[in-house]
Amino acid sequence: MSSIDQREYFAAKYQTIADLPGIGEATATKLSEIGYKTVQSLATASVRELVAAGLGEETADKAIKAARKSIAIEYITAQELVDIRKSLKMVTTGCNTLDRLLGGGLETRSITEFYGEFGSGKSQLCQQLAVSVQLPEEYGGLDAGALFIDTEHTFRPERVTQMALYLGLEPKDVLKKIIFAEAYSSEHQMILLENADGVIKENNIKVIIIDSMTGHFRSEYMGRELLAPRQQKLNQHMHKLIKLARVFNAAAVVTNQVSSTPDAYFSREPVPIGGHIMGHISHTRIYLRKGRNNLRIAKVVASPFLPEGETPLRITARGIEGDELDS
Ligand code: ADP
Ligand code: MG
Repeated sequence: MSSIDQREYFAAKYQTIADLPGIGEATATKLSEIGYKTVQSLATASVRELVAAGLGEETADKAIKAARKSIAIEYITAQELVDIRKSLKMVTTGCNTLDRLLGGGLETRSITEFYGEFGSGKSQLCQQLAVSVQLPEEYGGLDAGALFIDTEHTFRPERVTQMALYLGLEPKDVLKKIIFAEAYSSEHQMILLENADGVIKENNIKVIIIDSMTGHFRSEYMGRELLAPRQQKLNQHMHKLIKLARVFNAAAVVTNQVSSTPDAYFSREPVPIGGHIMGHISHTRIYLRKGRNNLRIAKVVASPFLPEGETPLRITARGIEGDELDS
């Protein structure tokens, strides 16, 4: 058995937080109330986060240490990293040209950001992903569910139904595997994600979608003097998302609008909101724009592993389509 197998990298030794040595029922309940429902989520938490949520410092420290021991976060060799990366999965976007651009689809354990102006197709793509992740693996899906946090009231079950039918999936089953919540404010959005780990585990969620990531933050934190607190909150929110994606081997997808501030005026291309926070934590950034003949153009703007490039796609009644119609 390799050390990776022994380590059971992503499987915690203890099933629930209450099983951890030194953690009593009361602490476990309290942790659950503040959003730490699994051993994995606790292992990647910081003492500061737990204290801020109302736990005593000593208890927080003890809880985190026990969780970390149980899931064995430790140094590994780069060769072992290769093995871990073997468990990375790709999720099809349901669109062949976009999949090609992305080197196969969206990668799990990573955040992919789609940004672009209003109507560029971000929400359509998100809904498509909530369906395509449900496809069997031989068709590029992960036979899994989707978590969908909608902040702009644009998710439509009717649209999902259309997309499901085209992919030969039973709409009712597809809708049941999309766990949906509407976020009414940035704070609500953060709370939803902080409480998501139980729901992700229970529903075998493999794609976590936040559409839009930045909308509430942008409208609530206006003006220069609120820029710093906004960035701090966004940073915390994005970090929570990447932790969830890593722990549950899920793909994370966020959308972002483009800025029309003077900063953008000097740039040749529109600038996504959220500045360097969004850029640093999103692993792959894709810019969506409208092209001629009602096409959309997706462009890789930043990626640790993809070459820059762009590709056309089309939003049709059937979903997001590539060049299958042309060939
Ligand atoms: P945003 O980037 O603002 O989230 P959307 O993803 O909501 O943009 O894209 C909206 C666009 O998607 C619409 O302008 C329309 O062109 C297209 N669209 C939406 N539904 C359909 C459909 N059923 N058939 C064809 N095109 C559609
Ligand atoms: Mg939208």
